[in-house]
Amino acid sequence: MHPDVIVVGGGLMGCSVAYRLAKDGARVVVLERSIPGAEASSAAAGILGPTVESYDDAAALQLGRRSRELHAELADELDGLLGLDVGFRRCGVVKVAFTAQELAELDGQLSSLEAHGVRCDRWTPADLRREEPAVNPEAVGALSMSEDAQVEPKKLLSAVALGAERKGATFRSGSTVREIHIEGGRVRGVRLGDAVIQAGHVVVAAGSWTTLIPGLPFDSETIYPVRGQMIATHTRPPIFRRIVFGAGGYVVTRPDGRVLCGSTMERVGFERGVTFGGLADVIDKATRIAPSLRSAGVDEHWSSFRPGTPDGLPLVGETRIEGLLLASGHYRNGILLAPLTAELISEAIAGKPSSRQAQALSPHRFEEQAS
Ligand SMILES: Cc1cc2nc3c(=O)[nH]c(=O)nc-3n(C[C@H](O)[C@H](O)[C@H](O)COP(=O)(O)OP(=O)(O)OC[C@H]3O[C@@H](n4cnc5c(N)ncnc54)[C@H](O)[C@@H]3O)c2cc1C
Repeated sequence: MHPDVIVVGGGLMGCSVAYRLAKDGARVVVLERSIPGAEASSAAAGILGPTVESYDDAAALQLGRRSRELHAELADELDGLLGLDVGFRRCGVVKVAFTAQELAELDGQLSSLEAHGVRCDRWTPADLRREEPAVNPEAVGALSMSEDAQVEPKKLLSAVALGAERKGATFRSGSTVREIHIEGGRVRGVRLGDAVIQAGHVVVAAGSWTTLIPGLPFDSETIYPVRGQMIATHTRPPIFRRIVFGAGGYVVTRPDGRVLCGSTMERVGFERGVTFGGLADVIDKATRIAPSLRSAGVDEHWSSFRPGTPDGLPLVGETRIEGLLLASGHYRNGILLAPLTAELISEAIAGKPSSRQAQALSPHRFEEQAS
């Protein structure tokens, strides 16, 4: 029997879409060329930070805040369904300024967030010392955004994939989709090697590789890789209570003392691995935020590819080809936006009209340019 929906790619986006559609009662198959979570979704820091990432874009801020709240519900749901903790914690984010110009930027961010009804507080250096004593004493002020949260991406990915299977979705690892099969203006399925798998709907969630798949009505450069390098260490006790941004980087602390430091933003194509320059940059930023990290050991380092887009927003929803949808191009915020993306795809397949904010994510904006 044919599946109702084929999902191409088993990153967090593909797994989240599969989980949601399987809960809706659809027969779903996820085709993943490697194993689920092989790429960006396992490399991410897990920051759920719309107030720090999207404060200057009203639609992105609103969608990001909604998705962050969906994460809280999803974490409870997966705990109930599978007994798995995905590490959701509403730890808050602090953005630190080291110069008068950065301080002025924080004031601009504060006004913009307050205008959207977001709760945030301006901190003096004394507040910062009291709340997060490991922050560099050279900081001249900070903005605290207590709504924001974190999750542990690898735990989330495996829980969502297990949840999808529990609800009836099938995963086929080692299945590279070679072409999207389109005929008579509608999608018919996908080609794997010589075989075609048929389905009424195809959702392409192949991260940075999405627009390289033949058959899609997009220029191959519409979604492109932006490499990010990361370093992990640990401290006892945990160095911070909150996620701390500053000096162009960030430090994320897990409750067990693990510390993730990020990251670079590099347009180097699909060149894998880490570089001396990239790691030096991450170390410079992290030790500017927290000088005591200079004596910390390096536990791990890695890199992966954020799926970038020309306007920084993802491509989520229907294309002009009937039955063909995209769930890709989430750049720096794919972990944050995964539950919202799954919801929007489910609504689109059910034929529900999309909200004004969600229309900002419509793939049509790039399809028009391609045609
Ligand atoms: C260093 C770093 C830190 C980050 N930190 C954060 C963060 O703190 N918060 C946040 O919200 N976001 C963060 N991100 C961004 C986030 O990781 C991504 O936006 C998100 O993981 C994208 O998920 P995805 O499922 O679309 O892509 P991916 O996880 O890359 O998955 C795509 C999948 O598609 C598969 N695939 C590709 N082509 C094919 C094909 N032809 N056939 C079958 N399968 C195929 C791949 O093998 C892969 O498994 C970070 C990213 C990086 C690199």
